[in-house]
Amino acid sequence: MDRTTEIKNDLSLFNEIVDELLADEIKNPVNQPTSVDALKDEVDLSLSNSPMELVQFKESIKTLILKTPKTGTRLFFNQLFGGRNGKAVLGDLLAVMLNNSMYTYKVAGPQVGVEKAIIKKVGEIVGYPSSCDGTFAPGGSMSNFMAMVMARDAKNLDTRFTGVKTTFTLYTSAQSHYSISKNAAFIGVGRDNVRFIPTNNKGEMDVESLEQQIEEDIQGGFTPFFVNATAGTTVLGAFDAVDEISVVCKKYKLWLHVDGAYCGAVIFSKKYARLLRGIEKTDSFSLNAHKMIGTPLSCSIFMTPHKKSLYDSFSNEASYLYQTDEDEYNLGKTSIQCGRRNDALKFWTLWKAVGTIGLEKIVDHQFELANYAREYINNNEDYILYSFEDSLSICFNYKGIPANELCSMLYQEGELLVGFGHVKEQEFVRLVCVNAANSTEDIKNFFEVIERVIETKSTLFTSLQIQ
Ligand SMILES: *Cc1c(COP(=O)(O)O)cnc(C)c1O
Repeated sequence: MDRTTEIKNDLSLFNEIVDELLADEIKNPVNQPTSVDALKDEVDLSLSNSPMELVQFKESIKTLILKTPKTGTRLFFNQLFGGRNGKAVLGDLLAVMLNNSMYTYKVAGPQVGVEKAIIKKVGEIVGYPSSCDGTFAPGGSMSNFMAMVMARDAKNLDTRFTGVKTTFTLYTSAQSHYSISKNAAFIGVGRDNVRFIPTNNKGEMDVESLEQQIEEDIQGGFTPFFVNATAGTTVLGAFDAVDEISVVCKKYKLWLHVDGAYCGAVIFSKKYARLLRGIEKTDSFSLNAHKMIGTPLSCSIFMTPHKKSLYDSFSNEASYLYQTDEDEYNLGKTSIQCGRRNDALKFWTLWKAVGTIGLEKIVDHQFELANYAREYINNNEDYILYSFEDSLSICFNYKGIPANELCSMLYQEGELLVGFGHVKEQEFVRLVCVNAANSTEDIKNFFEVIERVIETKSTLFTSLQIQ
């Protein structure tokens, strides 16, 4: 078989499998989970010496695909991503077909332009100077990592050569993402030197406490260098007050990064951009298009107005790699990785298709879904609400049932996928409204599924039996 025929056959197999998957998603939007113990019996995962017959090969793949948890359906609410956007899927599949690596213009050609077009446009929307720059990191955690490396080097450029000799401290809220402390370890600052600033009842960083802690550390002989503000905290979906925090950062000459992995995409909405007031005064900003915007994983955009710092921290000469064109178009000079997949194309195909107005609609729609969910809870006394306005994470409890028991049962019974969270001592179910393909009808259905399941399976809950 020649190579074109072979790939064409494999792609028709792809279409055949996808057709089955899409049909199955309608029939079974949630799978009955396969237990870890049963995994090797239910799915043929073994790898053998001899090739497999085509018929069996197909069957093995189909079983594997159909038994995989479904994240694209109307009943997946478990994570800060969900749903499926066809235009973005198209872009990602084409990126796989092209299989470029984004490090040089020679190898990626116009795909470099695709990435730069997104960086330029996002920079304009954020309000950074036209000289700003950015890149696509392997995810939100790694975008935060890049910000911290740049902040460390900006404080003392010699660190790149000598290693960390300064007793640095950095600041983030007690509700921020765990990648901040992990990254503190990676960059040689150490987890012990992360200061977790308390939050108010809405989960927003207390700015006065931030300033006090900075003062205390300076007096203690530490060198504060970095503040992370969060746009959409992982559990409550809260927004730290970027504008106020920027005043403190300016006063103490600290790098201000905004971790917008979850909700940084509010920049696309005229109505909700207010949640990031002051964003143009920050030193770096990241957003995950694979969360609110709904592109396939991963699509994390890292932005900074300090182009020079980006090169200072991430460029390295390599004569075996950079052989043509100027640095500006050799994107390997500003990224963590060497070989790097094309994460930009899927966002570009979507943006191209729907326009910035379309991105705004996606964002606004998610807030409408969240408002609807909050209203539903407020109008039903069997529920207690723990979240606040302007949040896409709807945290609640139903009939006093422990959230972890409820979520595990919904999973085990193959009813719906939703997770739970904690703030301080309180545990609750966290409904995430990021699937832009959902309607308010789907949100209503979410609650109705819970109500029906509890109605029919209440004997499973010790807490309900006691009542
Ligand atoms: C999801 C998330 C991250 C991590 O992003 P990944 O792409 O999963 O690495 C970081 N910060 C916040 C606030 C998040 O919600």
